[in-house]
Amino acid sequence: MPQKCQTCSKAFKLITQELAFYKRMGLPLPTNCPDCRHQRRLSLRNERQFYKYLCAKCGQSMVTTVNPDKGMIVYCLKCYEEFRSQVDLTKVV
Ligand SMILES: [Zn+2]
Ligand SMILES: [Zn+2]
Repeated sequence: MPQKCQTCSKAFKLITQELAFYKRMGLPLPTNCPDCRHQRRLSLRNERQFYKYLCAKCGQSMVTTVNPDKGMIVYCLKCYEEFRSQVDLTKVV
């Protein structure tokens, strides 16, 4: 059965494999045509933000795509490795 795109109102059809995929994954059927879905994916990628934060230990600034929570203690890779090597992971469960 043809779907109507919520963005451009164009009618589009989901192919059988797609229908089966969404059904198997328990996902709602897409409400946008393949073109608009493609556009949306592109814009989502472009909107990806970069966040700058400072290592809590050495103060080196880093860039991440994940927004660090307020008050979260972050370490740079070097300090994190150092921190990990000092902690006996077998005792932390
Ligand atoms: Zn569309
Ligand atoms: Zn550091």
